[in-house]
Amino acid sequence: MNINSIFENNKEWIARQLALDKDYFTHLAEGQSPEILYIGCSDSRVTAEELMGAEPGEIFVHRNIANLIPNTDLNSRSVIDYAVSHLKVKHVVVCGHYHCGGIKAAMENENLGILNPWLGNIRDVYRLHYKELNAIEDTDRRYERLVELNVAEQCLNVGKIPEVQDAIINRNLSIHGWVFDVRTGQLIDLTKEFANSFQIRAQKIADIYLFKPDTSG
Ligand SMILES: [Zn+2]
Repeated sequence: MNINSIFENNKEWIARQLALDKDYFTHLAEGQSPEILYIGCSDSRVTAEELMGAEPGEIFVHRNIANLIPNTDLNSRSVIDYAVSHLKVKHVVVCGHYHCGGIKAAMENENLGILNPWLGNIRDVYRLHYKELNAIEDTDRRYERLVELNVAEQCLNVGKIPEVQDAIINRNLSIHGWVFDVRTGQLIDLTKEFANSFQIRAQKIADIYLFKPDTSG
């Protein structure tokens, strides 16, 4: 991708869109009502809309290194709050991907400076699932499993947010955990597997993270 060709590409894209629908941009300017919030990795190979076949206006997107929702990260928390409380999305998707550089970096014991606090969130996931991960002898499979478990833990982090809990209870908001396989282009839905494994811990999770409903008025 040559940066000098971008504005030419843009003109061509506008012409293509208008040829399909002369009111395309008029409709786009009217506002957005996406049903899905997608939280994915910043990796240039894992685009949000293309891999789902979605059009502009259909998906609210947040991307960062290794699709994390840390407890104190105002950026991702603000995106989730806006999407859930104001746009009233019906689904929150956390999508990880195999061959994720962020996950790989977290598995190596290297000091990466300013990246350390961010990657520490992934190392926490490794620590939580240490027994399962260390029992996997094949390094590639262990790396893949950490990608999957990271998605599971980030789904849980989404569920810790009171606005999300309210939306789950009051309007059936659902949380989905996916993995994108860059080797095949396939999207894999791990929601069921995670739901089963979290079921075992559900009461503990509810005891610790579920906020009391606001009855003040
Ligand atoms: Zn990644």
